[in-house]
Parts: sequence; C-alpha cells; structure tokens
Amino acid sequence: MLAAYAVHVEHSRGRRFPQPSHPYRNDFQRDRDRIIHARAFRRLEAKTQVFTRRYSDHFRNRLTHTLEVAQISRTIASALNLNVDLAEALALVHDIGHPPFGHAGEKALDAAMREHGLIFDHNLHALRIVEDFEQRYAAFRGLNLTFEVREGIIKHSHDYCADEYPELAEYLLDLRPPLEAQLIDLTDEIAYNTADLDDGFEAHLLSLEQIRAGVPVFDHFFRDAECIYPGVADKLKFNEAVKGMLNRFVSDLIENTQKRLERAGIQMLDQIRNCPERLAAFSPEVEVERREAKKFLYENLYYSPSLAGEKDDAERLVSELFAFWIKNPSALPPNYQEKAEQESLPRIVCDYIAGMTDNFIYEQYEKHCGGMR
Ligand code: MG
Repeated sequence: MLAAYAVHVEHSRGRRFPQPSHPYRNDFQRDRDRIIHARAFRRLEAKTQVFTRRYSDHFRNRLTHTLEVAQISRTIASALNLNVDLAEALALVHDIGHPPFGHAGEKALDAAMREHGLIFDHNLHALRIVEDFEQRYAAFRGLNLTFEVREGIIKHSHDYCADEYPELAEYLLDLRPPLEAQLIDLTDEIAYNTADLDDGFEAHLLSLEQIRAGVPVFDHFFRDAECIYPGVADKLKFNEAVKGMLNRFVSDLIENTQKRLERAGIQMLDQIRNCPERLAAFSPEVEVERREAKKFLYENLYYSPSLAGEKDDAERLVSELFAFWIKNPSALPPNYQEKAEQESLPRIVCDYIAGMTDNFIYEQYEKHCGGMR
C-alpha cells in the first residue's frame, strides 16, 4: 500500500511531450527503463567511482555503485510505503551527469569552466543529458522523462536558490522534493561509505587496524563477528562488519524518517513539500557515525598519497584537453561544432568532456596532447 504522502504515479505532472500511456508499465517504470537504455547510463561502466582499474576489475565503478544505490533505495522506499518505481528511477539516474575520473574530473572541469565565468555541476549536467543529449526517439530530443524524475535529478542532493537559477523555476525550487528524491542522497552515502571501506581494504590502501580505530561503528560490528565466528578468516569478519554497518544505516534511515513523519504530523505529499526541512534523515546517533565514516574515508582513502598521482593526472588531462578544444574548436566532432553556434564554446567543450569515459579521455589526450608524460 502506497502511503498518502508518497508520489502517486497517476498524479504525475507528466512529460514535456505528452505520450499515450503504456498498457502494462506505468510512467515511472517507463522512465526507469528509458534511463537503463540510455547511452549515458551505459557509459557509467567505464567511469571511475574511486579507483581506476589499476587495482582490480572487481572494484566498484560508477555503474555498479549506481546499482547498489538502486538496490538500497528500493528497500528503503518499500519499507516506507513510498513509490518504489520512482525511487529506483532516481537512483539509477543519480550519477549520470558525472564526468570521467570521479571527483578529480569534476573538480578540474569546474575549475576550467570558472575561468570563463561558468560552472560545472553534475546534477545540472544530468538534466542536460536527459533533456537534450540522449537521442533515442524520433518524436523528441532527450528521454522525455516525467516531471517528478527531472525534479528529483535536480533536487535530490541539495537545494538550488531560485534567484540564482531562474532556468530551473519550473522545478518548484522553494519547495522540498518528495521523500523518494530526498532519500537518494542518503542512500548514495550509505552505499559509498560502506563500499569504499570494502574496496579500500581490498586494495591494501586501508588496513583492518586503521579502519577499526577510525570507524567506531565498523569496529562494533567487527567485535560482534569475532564473538560469533571466532575461527573464520579476517576478511569474512570484515564482510560481516560492513554488512552490519550497512544494515544499521538503512534500518536507522527507515525508522528515523518514519518517526520524523509522525512527529511532523505528515499526511499528504504537499506537507512534505512545504516542510521547512527535509524529513528523510538519520537519527542524531547514526548521523555521527555516518560523519565519522565519511571523514575517515576522506582522510585515509580519497586524499591518500597512493591515489594522489592518478588524481593529479586526471586533473591535468581534463584541464589540458579543455584548453586544447577552446583553442581549436575545429577539432571538436561536427555535432559539437554545430552546437557551439547556439551555446558558448566553453559549455560545449564541457559537455563533450563530461560525457567521456575514462578510456576515451585517455585516447583523446594521446591524440591531441601527445599522451602521458
Ligand atoms: Mg553516487
């Protein structure tokens, strides 16, 4: 049973280009399917999450991370009687705007854009992808997604100020997004705070002792595993601890969000939209644990000296290629040259680079900048 405050698909504000309904898939299910069939979605497979393939083929990439976020989001949405189809579509699309090389690529692209008085923001870029770049249908450009999915793309992780982004006015920037969108940001955190411990440990960049000392919630579940399974290998106890942590975060998010809904007397979706704060949240206790885990990962993994070299390379590649195409727009593919007649050249170069996979950008660097030094 869908809660009254869930998004009901029959109340959707619909698509930009109206289309007849489908005989056996509702509009959010169709959006989910359109996202999965998009080219930008498939490219997530060859985009860095934290590690390039230098370490191992079984580490997360942006696609497998996305699948983990979708899986966790479905569980949470279902437990809260929210619209699972909408939550799933939003989870699957949440990282579609990410450039190659994870956060290093994003940072370099944003820095390059700022030199031209512009910015790069992956949520805004995701909207450009689904509204324009994806060309799969004869009747319209883009994926023609429902309003609720486009709104969630923009608003799931933070609020945009209406004065600064007049072009986003249709997305009700003065209102909170529905819970289905609110939970995506927290689910994303649950997914990477646990997965990155796992991959970091497997990569030998984080030691068991280091994680136990720096992430108290992990240590708690590791101790439990030691009591229950004293004879098993450390790696299996490690897995139990990560699983315990993930389960605690998910359960807490479900229970605490439920409590907050009750406390705020929420009955209808409009009340969620008009609430001054987001209602999807961890309890204060688990919020502390989430922050500790995240801080640990920043200090010991994301900014570790072992990853610094590939990060610097990533930033250099992006900024040198950006400068190359600004100077030599005739070296851009013809469809991007055409686009540059309607929009500023830096925006078009940014679009081109943001769409690339890690492999493709290396090839381009080889071709135009003489390869890695
Ligand atoms: Mg993500």
